Amino acid sequence: MEEIIMNKSFIDHDYIYNLLEETKNTTKEDIQRILDKARGTTGLTHKDIAILLQTEDEKQLKEIFEIAGEIKKKIYGNRIVIFAPLYLSDYCVNNCVYCGYKRGNKFERRKLNREEIQEEVKLLEKMGHKRLALEAGEDPVNCDIDYILDSIEAIYETHNENGNIRRVNVNIAATTVENYRKLKGSGIGTYILFQETYHKPTYEKMHPKSLKGDYEYHLTAFDRAMEGGIDDVGGGVLFGLADYKFEILALILHNEHLEEKYGVGFHTISVPRIKKAEGMELSLFPNIVTDDEFKKIVAIIRLAVPFTGIILSTRETHEIRREVIEYGVSQVSAGSCTGVGGYKEKEEGKNIDQFQVSDNRSPIEVIRELISDGHIPSYCTACYRMGRTGDRFMALAKSGEIHNVCGPNALMTLMEFALDYGDKELCKEVEKLVIRECENIPKTDIRKLLLKNVGKLKNGERDLYL
Ligand code: SAM
Repeated sequence: MEEIIMNKSFIDHDYIYNLLEETKNTTKEDIQRILDKARGTTGLTHKDIAILLQTEDEKQLKEIFEIAGEIKKKIYGNRIVIFAPLYLSDYCVNNCVYCGYKRGNKFERRKLNREEIQEEVKLLEKMGHKRLALEAGEDPVNCDIDYILDSIEAIYETHNENGNIRRVNVNIAATTVENYRKLKGSGIGTYILFQETYHKPTYEKMHPKSLKGDYEYHLTAFDRAMEGGIDDVGGGVLFGLADYKFEILALILHNEHLEEKYGVGFHTISVPRIKKAEGMELSLFPNIVTDDEFKKIVAIIRLAVPFTGIILSTRETHEIRREVIEYGVSQVSAGSCTGVGGYKEKEEGKNIDQFQVSDNRSPIEVIRELISDGHIPSYCTACYRMGRTGDRFMALAKSGEIHNVCGPNALMTLMEFALDYGDKELCKEVEKLVIRECENIPKTDIRKLLLKNVGKLKNGERDLYL
């Protein structure tokens, strides 16, 4: 099976170059036609996106941002999901030019043992986290699949007085169908893998002489994940490696490939921008994406795939995050450390980070600001625990039923956060917000249930969800 998958490439470089060339003479009218289509929330094809990528006119760019914000509100409401990364191991056999973990960087490598994992998890739980993204370098000997599986088990088993981590998403190197099957069996949420760059010559230059250097194997990882039973997969591009227009078109083609073949595309798309890391200089990367280009990228992805979550990390500054959240982002990390054992060693500055973060605020600071900007921060983990993954999640999102399910769940987790981690003032503010937001829930019985559950939370019950 793996061989069949490997033989088929769905990212045809000549086709993408031609499309980008052909659309260079796109008129404002062509773009307007696509914008009108985007307002219908049906998503856009890669051909539409090729046209939209040519937008330079200020007025039309503003319209793209406006529509992106509207789509986000219509599909997701004003919820923003919060999570944090957990770095397990910085052993790495690869030599990715951009990465602080590259094997050429000489520092004492480490991986967390079970006890250390549980210490980190307790620190994350102390900040209020319920959702983690597990991260590790690639090393088949020091960080094999059994280590990853044991780590996931250790995370789910770690409880503090306010409960435990309820969803572990996993960002580990491309692997085999068999290993994906094992990951699925361990109860993961989304399997995340960034393509880094879809541009093959750049990919090969960025991943010299290493396991990760096989472009086709990396590109077909989600095919193997789907074969292994993982139906929530999260893609992404490391922006800054190749031309962003090429990357976006390829990303959308990848999504179309997954939809066509497995009936469901990306559950999430991440939009990391390259940051300074140990052993690399940003000035050596000729395709660095400017802030204006970055905003356009986020908004265009939102128009292209309205039902796919967009994830924004703390690589971005507070200011940029605040702005692009308005253009369709649905998940943000908060309080993140990007080093192994980083949560424990934060103050000591001992660890080697994979790359620098730019937003150092704690989750509660991020949450307070999100609320004051009119968002509903959410720690909801209900969907995958209720089996609403893959096409079942997409059906929920596309039917609009999401407002009867995800909205109340977000509000319940926010109330829980305020009670466990906030002061009296935050509790009051969140309760008022719940009452106000209740109005936006279409079904009366769900509205009643939400208010009843808020009462239960105040009386000490936890982890309530629909
Ligand atoms: N080893 C796994 C793999 O190969 O996919 C996980 C990778 S790593 C823990 C997570 C991501 O960090 C990478 O996929 C890469 O996109 C990103 N990353 C690496 N170096 C970076 C840098 N200098 N700036 C921003 N992001 C970076």
